[in-house]
Amino acid sequence: MISGKAIIAGVIGWPIKHTLSPILHNYWLKLYKIDGAYIPIETQPENLEKAIRSLPLLGFAGANVTIPHKEIAYNIVDEATEKARRVEAVNTLIIRENGSIIGDNTDSSGFIDNLRFGLQTKLDQKRPTVVIGAGGAARSVVAALLDMGMEEIRIVNRTIEKAQQFSRVFSQNINILPWQQLDKSLENSGLLINATPLGMQNRPPLDIDLKALPKDAIVTDIVYTPLKTPLLKAALKRGNKIVDGLGMLIHQAVPGFTAWYKTEPHITKDLRTVLLGKKSSI
Ligand code: NAP
Repeated sequence: MISGKAIIAGVIGWPIKHTLSPILHNYWLKLYKIDGAYIPIETQPENLEKAIRSLPLLGFAGANVTIPHKEIAYNIVDEATEKARRVEAVNTLIIRENGSIIGDNTDSSGFIDNLRFGLQTKLDQKRPTVVIGAGGAARSVVAALLDMGMEEIRIVNRTIEKAQQFSRVFSQNINILPWQQLDKSLENSGLLINATPLGMQNRPPLDIDLKALPKDAIVTDIVYTPLKTPLLKAALKRGNKIVDGLGMLIHQAVPGFTAWYKTEPHITKDLRTVLLGKKSSI
């Protein structure tokens, strides 16, 4: 039950139907008996600025921002946190009492926490890491990898100019490779990350040959619908250890929920079951 005083937040994206964020946040709202709601807000790119500017007018406490809006949203917010400025992309909006909009980015910490939780072993920082993609999420992934002390990050993106912008944002340990070298980029790497939407429900799979990838390399996909993307299935089949993207979604959601609803949610084991639709309510 929500009352007239309910605290409202949501997630802005295009498309948005794949998102599991409403299930996650509404589960926490129910668990902590908070008078609030969290809704999907489907917004086409040309309407993004109007949609974000409407949030304070409509009384929203904030929102998440997802594909493909994270970088444009960074240029719309009134103020950006240091984490958002570092990657020039936002995934979390917080509305101040005076109606101004703060943009934050929690994808980096979500990515690190998910890897740490999923692997329970230390990564070899000396071995090259391959990141596929150069969008808003990839920037956060690269920032996280630099924080983890990874010494060589190979970025492979369809539009090389977009990947080259990474050299401006991050000055060290970055090696940009053209899309044609995707398969070759895997040589002697210890960690492979898909940070594109390829493999996501209703999208084509990532077309990659894993032959050059060492068998002891870890493969992770930040796409979480489906949970086991074609990339993760192929990696698993040849014996690579995998980490799926669902944990990143859960971990990145914590700071936003805490700011909007003034309660820090705990990450419990049953959350994955809830998000996968195997447990529908509390
Ligand atoms: P984005 O800013 O739109 O960037 C998309 C990236 O994918 C770009 O590098 C783009 O390359 C590449 N790409 C798209 N279609 C492609 C294709 N057909 N062939 C080759 N490359 C293609 O999106 P984003 O915000 O970074 O999100 C990327 C994915 O990560 C989404 O699926 C999103 O749902 C997921 N994500 C998951 C989490 C989580 O919590 N698990 C968090 C954030 C994001 P170009 O530069 O050439 O266009």
